[in-house]
Amino acid sequence: MPVKSLECIFCQVAAHEKAAKIVYEDERCVVLQDINPKAPVHLLVIPRKHIVSLNDAMEGDKLLLGHMLTVVGQMARQHGIDSTGYRTVINTNAEAGQSVFHLHIHILGGRVLRWPPG
Ligand code: AMP
Ligand code: ZN
Repeated sequence: MPVKSLECIFCQVAAHEKAAKIVYEDERCVVLQDINPKAPVHLLVIPRKHIVSLNDAMEGDKLLLGHMLTVVGQMARQHGIDSTGYRTVINTNAEAGQSVFHLHIHILGGRVLRWPPG
């Protein structure tokens, strides 16, 4: 799997080749505001490495994936939704509605979220 995919919009965002509202970045991941927010806070945590979906996450990605989860908590605290609550979502393939094929963790908060999701 390539580290970067030239046609991938999230690879382009991570490389600052495509405009996005980036709220955090480090050497392993980038966090941006979703362009079509579904909640008052709607962030996407993306790895710099091009991983298509959870189906493609391998043993060697464990530290990266763990790191991304710690960034989720950090973002929730920074955006003031850690106490009220928030939802993290990773959609995989068609029936879950994955539309961008570069792994991303949605962080949704700032309103009451119903369960189960549609
Ligand atoms: P998913 O449907 O789970 O693959 O999520 C993809 C998300 O990426 C959707 O919520 C889109 O609104 C969002 N999205 C697509 N293109 C961009 C972009 N250029 N900048 C920010 N968010 C985007
Ligand atoms: Zn990519």
